[in-house]
Amino acid sequence: MNKERSKTYIALNEKSLLFYKNYNNEFSYVNCPFCSNKTSKDCYEIDNYKVVQCNSCLSYFINPRPAPDLVDIYFKEYYQDPFCELRSNERETYDFKKRYIGQANSICGYIKSFLPEAKKLSILDIGCSCGYTLQCIKEVIKDVECELIGIDLHIPKTDNTTDVRLIETSIENYLQASDGQKFDVILVIGVLEAMFDCCVFMKCVKKMLTKNGLIYITTPNINSIPMILNPNKFYSIRAHSLNPPYGVNAFNPTNMTIFARKYGLKIEKLSTPGKLDLEILRKCKIGDNTANEKLINNFVNIISKCSDKESELLQKLINKLLISSHMEVILRNSG
Ligand SMILES: [Zn+2]
Repeated sequence: MNKERSKTYIALNEKSLLFYKNYNNEFSYVNCPFCSNKTSKDCYEIDNYKVVQCNSCLSYFINPRPAPDLVDIYFKEYYQDPFCELRSNERETYDFKKRYIGQANSICGYIKSFLPEAKKLSILDIGCSCGYTLQCIKEVIKDVECELIGIDLHIPKTDNTTDVRLIETSIENYLQASDGQKFDVILVIGVLEAMFDCCVFMKCVKKMLTKNGLIYITTPNINSIPMILNPNKFYSIRAHSLNPPYGVNAFNPTNMTIFARKYGLKIEKLSTPGKLDLEILRKCKIGDNTANEKLINNFVNIISKCSDKESELLQKLINKLLISSHMEVILRNSG
């Protein structure tokens, strides 16, 4: 991580603490975001926010949490997309292209394999930020006519021009104004972990999805090897599911299955395709006092000595076991 980026993370973390101090009296309680069970037990705290565990499906989530009106205040007054400004500088660099074009390539690949007959497609990106993902999809998908729309609560201003349609609105307001418009593909990239009420959100998504339409989801995996070994360390890099007030729902392959079933959606694909787990773990610097810290340090020592070939094999194993840092899920509206 470069210095400029680290500074942005630290500033964001300070703002998150300030937001808690100013508004925690107004936070609201929710049922389990994954199975809707009403009871949970307190587990630990992250920056004063309470992490609880559902008594039924054993998932972790932040409760209480800021409701949408407070989230709106957070996004307008406390939040700044840590990547957006940097992205405008990095847009032409290899890393930028690798990340966005890479993702667009895999999304387009899935569209081709799961909707092979499609000649015309409408795609909605929920939480589109500056619209880069849609822009890259437009560049990648050539032989299919596409209508591309992005919505977000807050669309950051950048110098980059984009010719995809971006609308600053919530999903509920968009659904109300959209007059029954349906989409073949709905992108939910790095959004579910931040939803105040997953149930309201998913009901809106389902209403906007065509029959047989696809939902493409990415979200951090709380059961990933970096997070299991050292959860607090990864909180700070915003790759953690529980990163309040932004990240409040901790998904994993098990509760994602419960979640999909609850909304009558078929899982077409569930994977953890990350490539950086060993790299993340090798950068892990912690104490050597507790039994857990000793275990982590021993493990980090072992993987630091692995050859490239051994590392590659180990990463493949991590992917196969569904314990890489992020999940990629494709759900289909089959009902
Ligand atoms: Zn639950």
